[in-house]
Amino acid sequence: MSTRIILHDKVLKSISRRHPWVFSGAIKTIKGTPEDGDILRLVAGDGTFAGRGYWNSHSQIRVRILSWNEDEVIDQDFWEGRLRRALDSREPGSGNARRLVHAENDYLPGLVVDQYADWLVIQALTLGINRRKHMLAELLAEMLQPTGIYERSDVEVRAREGLVPETGVLWGAEPPDVVEIEENGQRFLVDIKAGQKTGFYLDQRENRAALHAMLKQHPGTEDYIVLNAFGYTGGFAVAALAAGVQRVISLDSSASALALAERNIALNGQSADPEDFMVGNAGDILRGFREQGRVFDCIILDPPKFAQTSRQVERATRGYKDINLLAFQLLRAGGWLWTFSCSNAVDADLFQKVVFGALVDAGREGQILRHLSAPPDHPVALTFPEGSYLKGLVCRVW
Ligand code: SAH
Repeated sequence: MSTRIILHDKVLKSISRRHPWVFSGAIKTIKGTPEDGDILRLVAGDGTFAGRGYWNSHSQIRVRILSWNEDEVIDQDFWEGRLRRALDSREPGSGNARRLVHAENDYLPGLVVDQYADWLVIQALTLGINRRKHMLAELLAEMLQPTGIYERSDVEVRAREGLVPETGVLWGAEPPDVVEIEENGQRFLVDIKAGQKTGFYLDQRENRAALHAMLKQHPGTEDYIVLNAFGYTGGFAVAALAAGVQRVISLDSSASALALAERNIALNGQSADPEDFMVGNAGDILRGFREQGRVFDCIILDPPKFAQTSRQVERATRGYKDINLLAFQLLRAGGWLWTFSCSNAVDADLFQKVVFGALVDAGREGQILRHLSAPPDHPVALTFPEGSYLKGLVCRVW
């Protein structure tokens, strides 16, 4: 009989609801000697089929389920079918850069694929995907005819799978140092090989468009001074300048990100003074502004993930509270705060409570005008609530 995993009864319900993760504690017995990355059959104590997925003895998540259908064989056709399903749900979108495969949320656990114009970037987050990445790159190349497919598997989560970071060309040509993309009618240079994530924060595309629309429609914004905190390569800055605001100050701890922000602003025919790019820790810079009595019309707070796990939630909420409090203190009456969190362990309700706490401590009044999230190329599988991570609030403060 084939290699198989016998599960404890208590986890069968969760698995029948198509949650894709099987933790070590869920496993009663292993029949056979599977190699890491092998496809295994999961069964209940009485032998009933529960699912099929790939195995990794080095991960706390021992199996990631690929199929709950007993008749479905995990062969080349399976992978091609899943990729087609993911591509099929992508809208043409605004521009030529988007996420094509969003891992568990596209029922392709461990696989991220992003498109930047004619280039694809793959992240293999798990051992099961790492073992199959060349085959997956071949399939994607056949389906999409890119110029090249580059791997950016230099992410911390791979350590939890027993994997080291890996980067480089997987298929076709090597991308240039920067690739030009178009988003919402604006142009951006993306550093696929060394930028953060796969080069660009694609998940903020619609929110950058929403900021642009708000600034464009609201009277008087041509006199605005916008503070783009955690500005990376200038996504929100370019969107704001394109709406006609007078001045955007961008700050980030990464000098190379801000150097690209400067180039992106120039690429769009916009201008910003060199002193409006500030390299440093956001909290320190915001505190400095407060001491100087500086006031802004609009502040964007798009920090990195403060909580990596649920154990870090408390510390993360203190971090969010601190920067949101500073932002509320720096906004003039009638000013706008665009505030985000990309920690999935901090849910939307908790995030709103933290922002409320910051507002109260600032002694201000404020309204939520919009709730923001990630665009449709970052779907959330209904069976995988962990997939919901980006949340944002547009607030007006008085
Ligand atoms: N808003 C950006 C994405 C921001 S990602 C966009 O639309 O493209 C978060 C950014 O925060 C990264 O660029 C990272 O370099 C920066 N960062 C991380 N820690 C920071 C800190 N303590 N102070 C300032 N910036 C920080």
